[in-house]
Amino acid sequence: MSAKVVIECYENIPCNPCVTSCPFGAISKQTITSIPTVDESKCTGCTICVSRCPGLAMFVIEELGDKAHITLPYEFLPLPERGEKVKALNREGKVVGEAKVVRVLTKGRGRTVAVTIEVPVELAGEVRNFRRYE
Ligand code: SF4
Ligand code: SF4
Repeated sequence: MSAKVVIECYENIPCNPCVTSCPFGAISKQTITSIPTVDESKCTGCTICVSRCPGLAMFVIEELGDKAHITLPYEFLPLPERGEKVKALNREGKVVGEAKVVRVLTKGRGRTVAVTIEVPVELAGEVRNFRRYE
């Protein structure tokens, strides 16, 4: 499966960087408070939107055989390093496995850092954050 965005924004948040940041017009909202929808045929998985969403609600997931790459917003410091092993967390912040950092994207002031982690493919629908080992 090629990389595709996953939006987990369910609270009618009145903003639209998800729409305006996508260079491919893959995301739309009927009104400013509508829940965003994705046209998967237009999403290239470029990950630009991940660092623009103030609600930290956008993820890009790519399945690669028995692994999956998840690009997610990350707001903690210090930043992890490429190759670092980290704890994979689910939506409730519970550790559900181990992940490896494969990319750290810092996109300039005012933008959230986007980190790509690798997890076992069966965890792709569950992992939405990570924590570094102390
Ligand atoms: S990953 Fe890229 S193409 Fe897909 S919705 Fe986000 S900005 Fe648009
Ligand atoms: S930018 Fe993020 S928080 Fe705002 S509507 Fe889009 S997905 Fe939701």
